[in-house]
Amino acid sequence: MQTNVTTRQNELIAARRVPDNCIFIGGQCVKPKGADANAIPLINPATEEVIGTCADANAEDVNKAVENAHEAFESGIWSKRSGNERGAVLRKIGQLMRENRDLLAGLDVLNCGKPTSYALFDVDSSADLLDYYAEIAETDEVSRVVPLTNAPGYVGKEKRFPRGVVGVITPWNFPLKMALWKSIPALASGNTVVLKPSEVAPWSCLEFALLCKEGGLPDGVFNVVIGSGKETGVALSHHDKISYLAFTGSLFTGKKIMHAASDHVIPVTLELGGKSPLIVCKDADLSLACRSAAFGIFFNQGEACTAASRLLIEEDVYEEVLKGVLEEAKKIVSGNGLQENVNMGPLVSKPQYEKVLQLIQTGFDEGLNCVFGGLPKESGKGYFVPPTIFTNAETNNTLWKEEVFGPVLITKTFRTNEEALALANATEYGLGSGVFSTNRDTLDYFADNIEAGMCSLNTYHFSSHELPWIGWKHSGLGIGLATHGYYEYTRLKQIAEYVGDA
Ligand code: NAD
Repeated sequence: MQTNVTTRQNELIAARRVPDNCIFIGGQCVKPKGADANAIPLINPATEEVIGTCADANAEDVNKAVENAHEAFESGIWSKRSGNERGAVLRKIGQLMRENRDLLAGLDVLNCGKPTSYALFDVDSSADLLDYYAEIAETDEVSRVVPLTNAPGYVGKEKRFPRGVVGVITPWNFPLKMALWKSIPALASGNTVVLKPSEVAPWSCLEFALLCKEGGLPDGVFNVVIGSGKETGVALSHHDKISYLAFTGSLFTGKKIMHAASDHVIPVTLELGGKSPLIVCKDADLSLACRSAAFGIFFNQGEACTAASRLLIEEDVYEEVLKGVLEEAKKIVSGNGLQENVNMGPLVSKPQYEKVLQLIQTGFDEGLNCVFGGLPKESGKGYFVPPTIFTNAETNNTLWKEEVFGPVLITKTFRTNEEALALANATEYGLGSGVFSTNRDTLDYFADNIEAGMCSLNTYHFSSHELPWIGWKHSGLGIGLATHGYYEYTRLKQIAEYVGDA
């Protein structure tokens, strides 16, 4: 098994076309200043081996990328093309992604450890996203006449334009998918982009940039800079030729991005963290609820912004639901994401591993009852954390309040729907939420009253790019995906004309 994994890893590394320490500017792979001296090691989290290095682009490199994107925007080579022309290019890139799906997915597995089946899903759904926004670009009417009811002799219009250079900064948990959720609607509506993916997982985004070139995207329209948040990210978010900042990541960094945007009075969308509740009522299909609750928290090792990390169970069915979730947890096969049967990988990096272990320790220190998992017992290679379940949490527990971003579930019971709602809303976050019940009124009650941008009924981790992606409270600002996500990247102009004869 080990030989197969090593062979596959070597094949994937050999298939990469973007060399180590490169960034992508003006349609070319280029070495940033001091690339070799300042390279950041890339570590496979399943084996702790160094598998390559990535560049740490500095402010000068970022400036070059933004200048290229700005020049491309101003030239009109993309921004002034018709929606049909832009759509055709995006469709071609989507097709190239499908042809290269094994490579793109495999690179995400090597960089962040996720199981291959999940990484393939990310690539396939991202290719579909390109088709979706291609169609929106093709059918977008751009301008519309506004009937003026009380202004004889005047014609009013509203017209939308692309904004300019969009700066996109993204995390490591879905490296390619998160980058494309932002970049593709921005490109579809005629903007140019400078993307800074996470320095922990940059490979798939760099390979994607080459596919953009092959798909016919003009040079300079899509650029990728790689490097640390404190150097590359800061330089990008503070650049005065950025017209819009699209950020996905932690609340901590999101606040810094918002400050940076305020310096130049530009709009920003923030997709931040979560502490999402999943509510199981006694009238639910309990088998479905248990499977969904386990998937809700353990999918992608818990490294999902919408991870259902707080499980609220109606008292009468508590034992039964807990038992069902434990059974699901026992079925999880943890290991190197390149192995076929694995459905849970390691955490992405040593700092993330140490952070999660520290939070698990806090659960013990605060007297929570650990009924499954806990601190890892084996000291083998790889940043593996077992699926972990603590019961009887209180709202002042650290694990209730803090986003873990790892496979750690806490449970709590409730007696009434009102109590469940109050518990669900007892968090600074408001991203995902889930409710399991067979009662229509109960489902509607929670869907209407949970303070979260997204609510899933009798399902969890359902995601469609046709639905808006929204964080309430400290989980975000602005709207991603769907048609809203496309219009975010346009700016509106009012055009009023006097056509009377006075
Ligand atoms: P992070 O905030 O540490 O980093 C995100 C990105 O910001 C990285 O590219 C990083 O290099 C960059 N960065 C860091 N400091 C910066 C700075 N000062 N200026 C500019 N850029 C900077 O987040 P992470 O650890 O990579 O990702 C995990 C977080 O992302 C979790 O909180 C998770 O909930 C969140 N997330 C949210 C969504 C969503 O849709 N709401 C989706 C995925 C992940």
